[in-house]
Amino acid sequence: MTSQPESGFVIPPPEQASLPVEGETGRFPVRRIYCVGRNYAAHAREMGHDPDREPPFFFLKPADAIVPSGSRVPYPPLTRDLQYEIELVAAIGKGGADIPAAQALDHVYGYCVGIDMTRRDLQGEAKKLGRPWDWGKGFDNSAPMGAIRKASDIGHPAEGRIWLAVDGEMKQDGNLNELIWPMPEIIAFASRSMRLEPGDLIMTGTPAGVGPVKAGQNITGGVDDVGEIKLAIF
Ligand code: MN
Repeated sequence: MTSQPESGFVIPPPEQASLPVEGETGRFPVRRIYCVGRNYAAHAREMGHDPDREPPFFFLKPADAIVPSGSRVPYPPLTRDLQYEIELVAAIGKGGADIPAAQALDHVYGYCVGIDMTRRDLQGEAKKLGRPWDWGKGFDNSAPMGAIRKASDIGHPAEGRIWLAVDGEMKQDGNLNELIWPMPEIIAFASRSMRLEPGDLIMTGTPAGVGPVKAGQNITGGVDDVGEIKLAIF
């Protein structure tokens, strides 16, 4: 006879990934992290692509890749080219499939600042060999996130500065109004492929200026009206 654990699971269940919400004691539980590729024209160009030709495309990170702002994280294994991508992140509060762009913002609970940490060398190799991006994008600690601010408090930011600095030196300095596909279209596109559910996060892409970060360096970043984020690599 084996004893049945109290939880009903044969091993302890994994911890629910979540983010703090400004002004709330409760936390926002995270289900999936959808990420948009190449959504600022200048960044698409710096990565060698024509920004005018492509509909948005997505990849995912696991929810447990989240680390809170203010964390110290180890330089990850297998890479010699860890890079930062500062991004506006939408938190979905109401699910749906085939969401029309005109109604899409009603599905957003709030926003936070995130960094799409990338093992660029592994991503580049995957692109070249036609392999999935997961090893380049979805590794441990690859989704640093700040606290969520509620849309009921800040509205739906469509313009404003989005920036990132390494050891105080400005590296990325863009504006949300440069998004090729703005938030309503991103939600509409994503929900045509997979049903969005409460708890989903959408990382909306990064402006130009991505680059490497080394062990011992500190990253700071922010989006006007949404918040700021800090990360130390050791
Ligand atoms: Mn990105």
